[in-house]
Amino acid sequence: MTTYKEFHARSIADRDAFWAEQARLIDWHTPPTATLDYSRPPFAKWFVGGTTNLCHNAIDRHLATRGDQAALIYISTETGEEKTYTFSQLYREVNRFAGILKGQGVGRGDRVLIYMPMIPEATFAMLACARIGAIHSVVFGGFASVSLATRIDDAQPKLIVSADAGSRAGKPVPYKHLLDEAIKLAQHPPQKVVMVNRGMAEMPLVAGRDLDYGRLRGEHMNDEVPCEWLESSEPSYILYTSGTTGKPKGVQRDTGGYAVALATSMPQIFCCHPGETFFCTSDIGWVVGHSYIVYGPLLAGCATILYEGTPLRPDAGIWWSIVEKYKPTSMFSSPTAVRVLKKHDPALLKKYDLSSLRLLFLAGEPLDEPTARWISDGLGKPIIDNYWQTETGWPILAIPRGIEALESRFGSPGVPSAGYDVRIFSEVDGSEVGNNQKGVVAIEGPLPPGCMTTVWGDDERFVKTYWNSVPNRMVYSTFDWGIRDDDGYFFILGRTDDVINVAGHRLGTREIEESISSHANIAEVAVVGVADQLKGQVAIAFAVVKDPARIATPELRRAHEGDVMKTVDSQLGAVARPARVHFVTVLPKTRSGKLLRRSLQALAEGRDPGDLTTIEDPTALDQIRAALSF
Ligand code: ATP
Ligand code: MG
Repeated sequence: MTTYKEFHARSIADRDAFWAEQARLIDWHTPPTATLDYSRPPFAKWFVGGTTNLCHNAIDRHLATRGDQAALIYISTETGEEKTYTFSQLYREVNRFAGILKGQGVGRGDRVLIYMPMIPEATFAMLACARIGAIHSVVFGGFASVSLATRIDDAQPKLIVSADAGSRAGKPVPYKHLLDEAIKLAQHPPQKVVMVNRGMAEMPLVAGRDLDYGRLRGEHMNDEVPCEWLESSEPSYILYTSGTTGKPKGVQRDTGGYAVALATSMPQIFCCHPGETFFCTSDIGWVVGHSYIVYGPLLAGCATILYEGTPLRPDAGIWWSIVEKYKPTSMFSSPTAVRVLKKHDPALLKKYDLSSLRLLFLAGEPLDEPTARWISDGLGKPIIDNYWQTETGWPILAIPRGIEALESRFGSPGVPSAGYDVRIFSEVDGSEVGNNQKGVVAIEGPLPPGCMTTVWGDDERFVKTYWNSVPNRMVYSTFDWGIRDDDGYFFILGRTDDVINVAGHRLGTREIEESISSHANIAEVAVVGVADQLKGQVAIAFAVVKDPARIATPELRRAHEGDVMKTVDSQLGAVARPARVHFVTVLPKTRSGKLLRRSLQALAEGRDPGDLTTIEDPTALDQIRAALSF
C-alpha cells in the first residue's frame, strides 16, 4: 500500500515514470514516444507522439466487455422523459452524429459550437466531435445572444449544433431566436446549423444554413465512422471560463493528457469503478460537466447520469429519489445547489434508500462549514470538497480516497492531486511562503496532464495571464488566495481580487463571509471591499436572512445588523467588522452559481457594474442598488 504522501511525491519527483504508468489506463493507437516535452515552458506537451481518441476510449473500448451495460442515463424532470443508452446504443447514436458532421464537411481541427440544453443529443454531439477530431466548444444553454456571439467569434465554428428549446422549472426556454440573433451579431457566422427539434418551441429553419437533426439522423442511421487518431497534444475542445472576474478566456484542452488525467481521477479521487454509476448534477456547459458528466465516467467504463431539471422539482427530494432508483456510487454537485436544498425540509434527505451512495463531492466555490455539516449529517455520507478551475479540467486539491482515506477537514478542499506541485507565494514580492502563511495559490510548472495547454488562439495571453506573477520562475497562478497547514492541507481564502485592505490590515472577504454565515439567521452572504477615504477600504456585507421577520422593520433591521457585526467582532476582531450589513433576498451570481463580487463592489463604489452577460438574475442588482441607497 502506498501512502498519499509517497504517491504524490513520486508524481512530482519521478514525473515521467509516474505518468507513463498512468497512461496505460487508456488505449493508444500508437504509444507515446516521450512522456513530456517541456522544452518551451510554460507550454507542456504530454505523451508526445502518442495517438489516441477520446471517443474511442469513452465508448468503443468498452463495447466488447460492457456493450449491453448502461452508459448514459437521461432523466428529465422538465419533460418527464427517462431513457437509458447502453454503450452499444451510445456507440450507434454517436456514429450517426459523426456521420452527419462529416456529411456537412466538418473534419479534424474544425470547430463545432454546441449550444444545447441537457439532452442526450448534446453528449452525442460532443462525442461525435471527439470521434472525428473536430474541436467542440460547448456554450451553456442559459446564455443569451451577446455571450453566445462573442464565443462564436472567438471559436469561429464551422457548424453550430442547437435545439429548439431548453426548459426551466417546467417552462420551455426557446433557443432559436437567441441563436439567430447571435449569428447576426457575429463577425464569423457558421456555415451550417444543425437543429434538434424537441417539439417544444418554434424553430424556423433558415434556408441553406439550418438543417433538421431528425431528418439527417434518418439519412445516417447505419453510418460507421472510424475514429480519427489524434496526436496527444491536438486540441479536443475549447471551453470558456465562467467570466466571474472579467472577459472569459477560451481554455484549450489537449486529447491524450486529458484522457489520462480523467482516467486516473475516477478511481483515485472519485472512487468510481467500471460498471458503477456516477451522478454529476452540473451542466455540460461547464467544465465539471465536460469532465464528470461526459468524459470521465465513460472513459472509466461507468454509467453517467444526465439530469435535466432543477434540484427542487417535483420536490427537493428529486436527486435522492434518482439515487434510490439508479444507484450511483458517487455523486458530484456544488455548494450553491446544497444551499438551495438547505431551504427545504431536511427530512427529504432521509426519505430514500441511499445505500448505493458512498461519497458526495462538492466543488466550484468555497464550501462553508454549516452547509457541509447540514448535507453530511442529513445524508449520513462523507462530503468531499474539491478545488479546481476551468483551466485545470480536474481537481487541483481533493482528498484522494482511492489512494489513502485521509481525513477531511472542514474548510479545506484537501491536498494536491497527482502531478500538481502546489505552492503558496507572497503577493507582495513573489517569494514562496511557509506553512500557515497566507499567499497566492500557485502551481509550479509544468501543469500536469489534462490542464489547459493555452488560451485558444492566443499563446501570449496564456503566458501573460497565468505565468507572470512569480519573477524568474515558471509558476501558474490560480488567482486564489490560500494557506497550507503543517499537515499539507490547503485552505482557499478567496480570489486575489477579494483581498481588502482596511487601515493597513489585509483581510480576505472569504474569512469575513465565513464568520457572518455562522450567525444563526444568515443563509448566505457576500462581502466586498469598498474604497474609503479614511481607511483605504472597508468591508461591506450583503446578506440573505433565513427568517425575514427578524428584519421586518427599520428598527429590527438595525438591531440585526448590529447583531451580525457582533458575530464578526467576537470571531475575527473589530478590524474585520463590516462597515455595513445590507439585507437582500438574492445575491447577484453568474449562471454557474458564483458571486459577481466585482459588480457588487462597483455598485457599492458608485461605479458601473461592468459586463453582466453571465448574470443569473438581473433583478438581483436592483436589490443591491436599493439597499445601497436606503
Ligand atoms: P473567470 O476565471 O472567468 O473569472 P471563474 O474563475 O469563476 O471565472 P471557474 O473556472 O468556473 O471560473 O471557477 C474556478 C474558481 O472557482 C477557482 O479559481 C476558485 O476561485 C473557485 N473554486 C472552485 N472550487 C472551489 C472550492 N472547492 N473551494 C473554493 N473555491 C473554489
Ligand atoms: Mg477563474
